[in-house]
Amino acid sequence: MDSDEFKRYGYRFVDWLAEYMDGVEKYPVHQPVEPGDIKDNLPENAPLKGEPLEDVFQDFQEIILPGITHWQHPFWFAYFPANNSPPSVLAEFLTAGLGAQCMIWKTSPAAEELEEVTLEWLRKMIGLPEGMAGVIQDTASTATLVALVTAREKATSFQTNDKGFTETLIVYTSEEAHSSVAKGAKIAGYGRENIRLIPADDKFAMIPEELDRAIREDKEKGLKPACVCATVGTTSSTGVDPLDRIGPVCQEHDVWLHVDAAFAGTAAILPEKRWIMNGVEYVDSFVFNPHKWMLTNFDCSAYFVKDPDVLQRTFDIHPEYLKTGVDAVVHNYRDWGIQLGRRFRALKLWFVLRYYGVEGLQAMVREHIRLADLLKGWIEKDDRFELMAPVDFSLVCFRFNDGDRSEEELNALNKKLLECINSTGKTLLTQTTLKGKYVIRVSIGQRTTQERHVRELWELIIAETKEIS
Ligand SMILES: *Cc1c(COP(=O)(O)O)cnc(C)c1O
Repeated sequence: MDSDEFKRYGYRFVDWLAEYMDGVEKYPVHQPVEPGDIKDNLPENAPLKGEPLEDVFQDFQEIILPGITHWQHPFWFAYFPANNSPPSVLAEFLTAGLGAQCMIWKTSPAAEELEEVTLEWLRKMIGLPEGMAGVIQDTASTATLVALVTAREKATSFQTNDKGFTETLIVYTSEEAHSSVAKGAKIAGYGRENIRLIPADDKFAMIPEELDRAIREDKEKGLKPACVCATVGTTSSTGVDPLDRIGPVCQEHDVWLHVDAAFAGTAAILPEKRWIMNGVEYVDSFVFNPHKWMLTNFDCSAYFVKDPDVLQRTFDIHPEYLKTGVDAVVHNYRDWGIQLGRRFRALKLWFVLRYYGVEGLQAMVREHIRLADLLKGWIEKDDRFELMAPVDFSLVCFRFNDGDRSEEELNALNKKLLECINSTGKTLLTQTTLKGKYVIRVSIGQRTTQERHVRELWELIIAETKEIS
């Protein structure tokens, strides 16, 4: 492709994307696609001869787009958001164009140093203690795996890296923790049976006394407690584990404390939400996702550690072909996690932080929380509905409950309600169970979501209850 063609399509794609962003509301949030529908329209083999970009672009619009779920839609209320923004998208374009592979300082000094600087900005923005050092991981799942491996090495004086497991190490997390903790514990070699699920209270927060009891029991059995994974903002209901009470337990038993704040960590940029960080001085590692609620397009997960030496000792490798003269004075991020090759992710984060500023991001987060409070208010005022969890951020958990029905009936009814709402294609909501009860989640966090969208959603929910009762 010569640069004339590159420019022609480049300008066209920017025009197309700008129109898409402005007009995304005209698409259904998700489309009635059956498994195989997209594959059926794609050839079995790669083309032998190159094809005109015009044809590829046309197929993108006709075959691919109809199978895309529109995460950036203002009626997106499913899962958690993965919001992006124009400055982030533009920076990602530059990143792709530079095509730098940023595994060590030497392979792109600016990428490494910008990552250090932007993560230091983030550290201060969310109130993590001075001295914690940051690195961008692809996802929170990876960051939690990295924490679990590091905790394993710390607990065994770095012997597991050399000898493999010689004793039984235990991981503690709450029954409300994200599945990535169990997945990470499996991969890191702890074994599924060595994960203790600590009970949560009626606000879905880990009970510190139960944690303490479980650790003591394991120690009495001669097992070795290695890592506690606490959650700030659980996926089901944004429950907040009390770090200020979990921290001392970890300290007393000399156990690594990792915090998964994938979604809710962003809220700590608001002074009125800073309480979620109470006790953060006890924390050994902490992750949150700018790719969820901070306008930085996927993927960008910010991982912080109190002691970067322990992290690097866990992951470092020194093959001759990667040695450089500056290794002692720079961050070689290949030793801060699992991947060797690394994308230049700090660029989009830098663009976002500079374009919106801390105040711009605070305004967005505050608005989403305000919208969630509005919805919460409507639910509380309507006695056919029941609020199912505290609304501390921008996630609202509720169910339809119009009177004397058994729990089983309510579960079935709410499942049906969710299906009815989603089958309209107008929005997408997801579900969870809280203490065995089927619950509908409304997660607010798209850049373009306004009050009118939340109002319309509420009207839709009310209308669909007529279909089920
Ligand atoms: C979303 C989420 C994750 C997973 O995030 P990824 O970046 O997709 O791995 C982990 N923990 C919590 C609490 C989450 O909400």
